[in-house]
Amino acid sequence: MSLSVALRQTIWERAGNCCEYCQMPQDYDPATFEVDHIVPGKMGGESVEENLALACFKCNNHKGPNIAGIDPVDGSKAFLFDPRNDNWSQHFIWDGPLLLGLTSKGRTTVALLQINVGHRVSHRRQLITEGVFPLSKKS
Ligand SMILES: [Zn+2]
Repeated sequence: MSLSVALRQTIWERAGNCCEYCQMPQDYDPATFEVDHIVPGKMGGESVEENLALACFKCNNHKGPNIAGIDPVDGSKAFLFDPRNDNWSQHFIWDGPLLLGLTSKGRTTVALLQINVGHRVSHRRQLITEGVFPLSKKS
């Protein structure tokens, strides 16, 4: 599915050039971020602003075609965080370089997208030391 240059630009700008899942800014990640279909095309998700999010390569790669997963705490099924319909701060909180899920949806997303694997935590710890992450919340 190819997206127009204008639509891509809209998605990047709306996200402030940060991953809408793990909040990593593109400026501090060597892998180019991607426009994610929140609901994949194969499931009927359309290439429209309401179904698109900016995701870092790692989050997008692990998310793949999934829209749901298993909560690692209680084993229940849960939908993944939806950047268009869910409020980030309601589902996640930073504990230093670790991203904690506050809800079943948050925990499931952290687990499936492997947001707390070692090299990603080390990378964030480095950026915290440099004082450039996490970015202060926009409004
Ligand atoms: Zn990410």
